[in-house]
Order: sequence, then structure tokens, then C-alpha cells
Amino acid sequence: MADSIEGRVRSSVDAFLRWLPRWQVGTSRSRPRVCRLCLGSPVATAAGFDHDVPHAVQHALLSRMRVIVDESVDEYTARNLPLVSRELARSESPDAPGYRPEEGLALEFQGLEVDPEPEPGQPFLFTLAELAEEDRQRSEPIAVAEAPASPAEYSDEAKAALRTELELADDHARQVGTAVCLALVEHRRRIADAIDRLVEPQIDELLAELSLALENPRSH
Ligand SMILES: [Zn+2]
Repeated sequence: MADSIEGRVRSSVDAFLRWLPRWQVGTSRSRPRVCRLCLGSPVATAAGFDHDVPHAVQHALLSRMRVIVDESVDEYTARNLPLVSRELARSESPDAPGYRPEEGLALEFQGLEVDPEPEPGQPFLFTLAELAEEDRQRSEPIAVAEAPASPAEYSDEAKAALRTELELADDHARQVGTAVCLALVEHRRRIADAIDRLVEPQIDELLAELSLALENPRSH
């Protein structure tokens, strides 16, 4: 497993570094809420990110690493955990695959916001996120209604077996997470170099502009 994880981490870091030159300090959206993916993430530590690296930049790499873990857990589940696989198949109606604008994107764009930030006075007619939400709301009641049996109707034995499989899936996710962190440490140097080259100068420039504006408030 470690070998394939190393390869996936390498290509995801490559994709992140191809994307990084597009990042601009002024265009990054500030999140009003705490980000559950990034806050206190061991992956951020493994990548060598400190608090000075903007959230949008950290998030772009961390969400790629998350995709690696999720895909690995999906593969493991499909191969080894028949009960969990069946539950997943039950909850996803094949007739209503749903609209997921964030899925199937090229690696460069995975984990990024699907819609640009709205400009004041220029509302969008619709956003991709809204379409996906409408689609989810439409398809959910149908999926539930068609489900032939729910886990509540399982015997105690079947429930225990399902619980065991869920624990195995958790264990696997933890193992992959650790393998991702270990693999990522190997790329710290490349990541730090790119941040120094592409991110730091923009932040320095922004800070210089701000302090200039503070010193000469009337000239702005
Ligand atoms: Zn984040």
C-alpha cells in the first residue's frame, strides 16, 4: 500500500505545484468559519506549513491529500468489506447519480471552490453549488423510499458484523492517513521552495502596501 500512496502523493504534490502560480493574494476568499479539513491537521504539519501560509494555499494541498485517503478507503471497502459496500450501494440510488460539480475535475482543480466569489451588485443567475444542493434534495427522498431494508431491521449478529467492518474501514483510513503524512514529508523541500517563490513575495507586497497606506492615509 505504502508504494502506491507514495506515488499518489507525489503526483498530487506535482498538481498542487502546477496550480500554485495561479494563486493570488487578493483573490483568495477568507472563510468565515473554521475549516474542519485544515484546523490542527497533521497533514499540514507534514507538509511543513506554518501559520503564515494562507489558508487557501494550505487547503488546496490538504484537500488533494484528502482525496487520496478517500479513494483508498473506497477501494479497500469495495474489495474487503461486503456489508459496508452494500450499505453504500443502498444509500446511493443508481437511477439518481446526482450532480456533483466538484467531482471528476482535473487534479489541479480538486478541492477548490467551484464557484467564483460573487461581486457586489453582480449576482449570479445560479451557482454550481446551488444546483448540486437542489439535485441532492430532489434525489434523497426517492433513494430512501426505494431502499428495501434499513439497518434497523438487521439482526444483532448482522449489526455486529457491520460494526466490525466499519472499524476496519476506520483503521484503514488511519493507516492511509499516516502513510500520506510520511510520504508528504519527502516533498517538504519542494513545497517550501514554491511557497517562498510564489506566495511570500505577494504577502510581503501586500503588507508593504498596507503599511504605506497607514503612513500616508491622505494619499489613498
Ligand atoms: Zn481548509
